[in-house]
Amino acid sequence: MRWDAIVRGGSVVTPEGVVRADLAIADGRIAELAPEIAGAAGEEIDGVGCHLLPGLIDPHVHFNDPGRADWEGLATGSAAIAAGGGTLFIDMPLNASPPTLDAASFDAKLAAARGVSRTDFGFWGGLVPGNVGRLPELADRGVVGFKAFMSGSGIDDFQSVDDATLWRGMQVAADLGLPVLVHAENDVLTAALASEAVAAGRTGVRDYLASRPVVAELEAIGRAIALAADTRCPLHVVHVTSGAGVALVAEARARGVDVTCETCPHYLVLDEDDAVRLAAVAKCAPPLRPAAVQQALWEAVLAGDVAFIASDHSPAPASMKGSANFFEVWGGISGCQTTLGLMLEEGHARRRMPLPQLAALTAGAAARRFGLAGRGRLEVGSSADIALVDLDHAAPLSVDELRDRHRLSPYLGHTLRGRVRRTILRGRTVGRDGQATGPALGELVRPERLDRGPPELIR
Ligand code: ZN
Repeated sequence: MRWDAIVRGGSVVTPEGVVRADLAIADGRIAELAPEIAGAAGEEIDGVGCHLLPGLIDPHVHFNDPGRADWEGLATGSAAIAAGGGTLFIDMPLNASPPTLDAASFDAKLAAARGVSRTDFGFWGGLVPGNVGRLPELADRGVVGFKAFMSGSGIDDFQSVDDATLWRGMQVAADLGLPVLVHAENDVLTAALASEAVAAGRTGVRDYLASRPVVAELEAIGRAIALAADTRCPLHVVHVTSGAGVALVAEARARGVDVTCETCPHYLVLDEDDAVRLAAVAKCAPPLRPAAVQQALWEAVLAGDVAFIASDHSPAPASMKGSANFFEVWGGISGCQTTLGLMLEEGHARRRMPLPQLAALTAGAAARRFGLAGRGRLEVGSSADIALVDLDHAAPLSVDELRDRHRLSPYLGHTLRGRVRRTILRGRTVGRDGQATGPALGELVRPERLDRGPPELIR
């Protein structure tokens, strides 16, 4: 056989455009892309009526394994990713226990993932007070970069950074050629507003929302940019919620700072009123925003100023999601399975986002930003990581479709577009019709170091 597999007759979403083509796979890579490919293949896959998108890359999940696998776990989390068309995730250093703060904790996480993960995976290391000296050993192990919290993480074993730690950590990360990621909210402001509210007995959903205003995000983004500019450290701001926050990042980029940002489906699809209606299942930090803030965020996404979309999937057991005091409810939205379906419906179908732009936002741009060579693009030579999707299919999300541990989603009843017929990882089928399938083939993906300037964003 010349080819291991051929997907025939589908519409292939390449970086340049959508083409009707056959796609041949050999040795886990895309070997040929042409209108008609002759010759026999080990596996013939019918792609007629379907689009081939690059397998979703989710660079921001919390699978909490080892140590807190009862919150999610690598087996269930990666199964949800594969079911939703995903082929690669990058797991955050918290809330695994131990958190990924040195070589030993990295090794523990790798041991937990091998033979368990349905998709390929990368790991973020943590940057916390006291571990700046550990960043080189984490880099040697293969972390994609370092995550820091500028406000409380919600968990005792992962402390937020003071400015000195962040500045010193950025100096080390810059030398290592790896990015620092920040959760950007001003801790002094949010902590004061929260304690005032709780002391006054104002502990409802709207009180929580009011304790984390947009200005807290803007101030922290500005400070992180100043430190990144000074240290020449690649900076990535996770889960930006506002068009104003994206604008700060875009302005800094325009003057040469190596900075990007992501947002999440929940900030694009749900707003403040949904937060009140849904309560615990939609609690997150930063919180959901008013509709006008959301509209400006959408404009920033469509304009190409947001590098990519990540789920920030961060579940917890139901027992942690129930409290009369909303400040005490565990914050974190489950969404790693639904990113592609939500973006295809909200972005592509409703807001006319071209499919190549959507593919960049859900796969290619994260791979390029974080040095994941050969990932996230459907072109000859790339890893054969593919979501085979029927775009004519659109239906409300029901709970029995969910594959994460707790089957919690704020998107129940929300329309998802694009039934994922197959998820293909390095040429092997790992997801089929909404289920993970086959053995757990996931492998660790290590980045190439960032010794280049800021990447061009899709416009
Ligand atoms: Zn997160």
